[in-house]
Amino acid sequence: MARRRKEPESLVPADLPPAPPPPESVLSPRPLGDEEEILPPSLRPRRFQEFIGQRQIVEKMQVFIAAARQRGEQLDHTLLLGPPGLGKTTLANVIAAEMGVQIRITSGPVLTRAGDVAALLTGLKARDVLFIDEIHRLNKSVEEVLYPAMEDWHFDVLIGKGPTARSLRLKVQPFTLIGATTREGDVAAPLRSRFGVVSRIDYYSAEELVQLIHSVSRRLSFPIEEDAAGEIARRSRGTPRVAIRLFKRMRDVAQVDGQPAINAATVARGMEMLKVDRLGLDYIDRRILEILLLRFDGGPVSLDTLAVSVGEEPDTIYDVYESFLIQIGFLARTNRGRIATRLAYEYMGLKPTDRTAEDPQKRLFSDEP
Ligand code: ADP
Repeated sequence: MARRRKEPESLVPADLPPAPPPPESVLSPRPLGDEEEILPPSLRPRRFQEFIGQRQIVEKMQVFIAAARQRGEQLDHTLLLGPPGLGKTTLANVIAAEMGVQIRITSGPVLTRAGDVAALLTGLKARDVLFIDEIHRLNKSVEEVLYPAMEDWHFDVLIGKGPTARSLRLKVQPFTLIGATTREGDVAAPLRSRFGVVSRIDYYSAEELVQLIHSVSRRLSFPIEEDAAGEIARRSRGTPRVAIRLFKRMRDVAQVDGQPAINAATVARGMEMLKVDRLGLDYIDRRILEILLLRFDGGPVSLDTLAVSVGEEPDTIYDVYESFLIQIGFLARTNRGRIATRLAYEYMGLKPTDRTAEDPQKRLFSDEP
């Protein structure tokens, strides 16, 4: 997705260094540019046994799928929540494969007209999966077709215009809608209530990412030493897409260095080159922390103000950076804005000022400035 950048000059304090040039971050959990997919499609997890981690979700889905198959019915509509790059699309594909049905893949922003979704729905065979990524971005007219289709397997279309217009009822085969979103709070309530299963995908542990890295290493036939895999995993922000991308960049370094395998020295050199630190933070994360700590005295600061100051889209800050900084305990979302925690000060080598509470939880819902 192309990202626009705003000039943050007016809000960035003079005592901060200017924002560095904005290359697409190697740590972005979203697909980068035309990096269509990192692994050849045939090598991506196809079945649950190849899908790493997320055991709770996998076990639950296996039961629901087995039950639906025994009844010869479609799986209940399923909503997958979680930050980008954690495997929502992959999981939807695995679910369809385990159900033994076809999957049609689309996304909220692509379905602009009622006719777009109508065409997709009428093309589905019984029990097929329709996967809609970024489902929180559906517009009203599309939602209105989707609701009756999800519930009663039909929808109405208006034919003609003016006084001669009439409504035509079209049937659809019972299908499974799998919706994915990074923004749980933005899913319209009537849409959300139509999902029988809601699953939240969590960040992966370093051990799970090590497993993923070894599997990618085997698939791409480029060996990696154990400690090097651990080091990449720890810097991958709990995100498979980032782990795979970092593996590939480290493979480049090893290859150019004439190394037959990725080792700890390769990773140290590669990460230094990419400016990815031991926690997997890069310059945008550090910029966010700098702005928050130095310009806003630790917060609270609104998402929009933070985004303008950093020169990133609010959506990107929210989905990509903030959610990880919260995950590692550097940031907290409060009803008055974002605040930095003591850990963030320690990481940046700064001392909390008097205004920064010892325990950020104390400030979560306080009205103090
Ligand atoms: P999302 O839809 O949440 O943005 P994707 O499903 O596109 O994420 O996953 C990003 C990449 O990570 C893909 O290459 C995918 O194959 C890989 N991946 C994600 N989750 C897993 C997993 N649990 N096991 C193995 N590979 C995974």
